[in-house]
Amino acid sequence: MESNRTRGIVLRQSGHGESDKIITFYSPTLGKITGIAKGAKRSKKRFVNKLELFTLLDISYIPPRAGGLFFLSQAELLHPFLSLRTRHSRYVMAALACELTLKFTSEHDPDPQIFALLSWLLESVDQGVKPLKTGALFHLRLLGTCGYQPQLYQCSHCHHPVNDNRSFSLQPANGSLVCHHCNPGALRSPFSLSLQTIKFLQTGQQLKIDQLHRLQMPEKAAVETLLILHRYSRHLLQRDIQSWQFVHKSFQPT
Ligand SMILES: [Zn+2]
Repeated sequence: MESNRTRGIVLRQSGHGESDKIITFYSPTLGKITGIAKGAKRSKKRFVNKLELFTLLDISYIPPRAGGLFFLSQAELLHPFLSLRTRHSRYVMAALACELTLKFTSEHDPDPQIFALLSWLLESVDQGVKPLKTGALFHLRLLGTCGYQPQLYQCSHCHHPVNDNRSFSLQPANGSLVCHHCNPGALRSPFSLSLQTIKFLQTGQQLKIDQLHRLQMPEKAAVETLLILHRYSRHLLQRDIQSWQFVHKSFQPT
């Protein structure tokens, strides 16, 4: 049977039996796909050192007849993003981005925006752009693309606009802001957001993906964003995000 081809970013890989590998990747035309690479542990020519986490591949595949795994017949390496494997702070952010993509997307539901966003994160962090800022903006935009855009312009109860007269927190149940007049607990809430961070996030929601690198986000705002979006995402997913603990450690004082 003739193979089809697609680009794809490896989100997860595991061994299967003595010689095969199971690969989950994100493709701009197929979405999230899981396939089997027969003989991948042995094949020097078709797969060796190509099916690693984060790599961008040109994949030849045969789709399954009904459900089940794709058959991956060959892979060409388009970009290895090598520094993501050798620098810890880069690795943990790439791992978080891949896990979020894995958990927020469904199989066979392609969205080229998600592929573009993940490519942007991997390229930016690989080229040395600050991982915390890049990860925070990636997470914000991924939520928006998946239908969970945080509403960041006014209190969702009294409609008071965001300004420095009031404090705001993000409600994990619906991703909207509430002010401390409507919810006095907002002042001490683990979901409270500073005005500066809200302004950065508003801009981060408006820019095109290839313009996001222009946003000069201070580390404090990036950390605050990562903490809040992690709590919001855990609420949405109703399960833990495993790579989070390593990202969290990376910005904790030692
Ligand atoms: Zn209010």
